[in-house]
Amino acid sequence: MNIKELVKAAHYLYSSGLVLGSAGNISIRLSMGEIAITPTGVPLSLVTEENVAIVGMDGSRLLGGDPSSELYLHLGIYKVRKDIKSIVHTHSPYATAFAFSDKRLKGLEGFNGVEEDSMVEVAYHKPGSLELARECAEKIKEGKILILKNHGVVCCGSNLREAIQLAEFIEQSAKTQFLAYILTKI
Ligand SMILES: [Zn+2]
Repeated sequence: MNIKELVKAAHYLYSSGLVLGSAGNISIRLSMGEIAITPTGVPLSLVTEENVAIVGMDGSRLLGGDPSSELYLHLGIYKVRKDIKSIVHTHSPYATAFAFSDKRLKGLEGFNGVEEDSMVEVAYHKPGSLELARECAEKIKEGKILILKNHGVVCCGSNLREAIQLAEFIEQSAKTQFLAYILTKI
């Protein structure tokens, strides 16, 4: 994985409608000591190789633009799970609607290797806070998908493609469950 692929993925994610405005962020692990993460305040459609931020594991800024406000959430996960090489965070509408409700997303049948226990709920903490980063680092030990209460979704993969596919799949799954729920009410 390289920065070019990260830029391409950022544009793809924006055009897919899973993120809007300057919400959402993506990162990749470049080495055990460095990550590349999308910049803060920039819509994913406008991410370039120049404004992607290269950051050390201690949060030190090495190159590029200002890192996403969720930098420490990403770093915390990479520190705990060495197998994770990419992280995608979205506020995709259907999955996030579940996160705002008391309804629980059910199992994700149909996606290789993803079971219901891959989804872990994270209690609400202010977006961008160290408290949120800390809790995500703790919960990621239990599964690759975090449902952030009243906030959004974090999907992690052993590569960029897997993280993006998970983000797409969880949104599709949430949409289907939402529609099924409505249909049973008609
Ligand atoms: Zn967010």
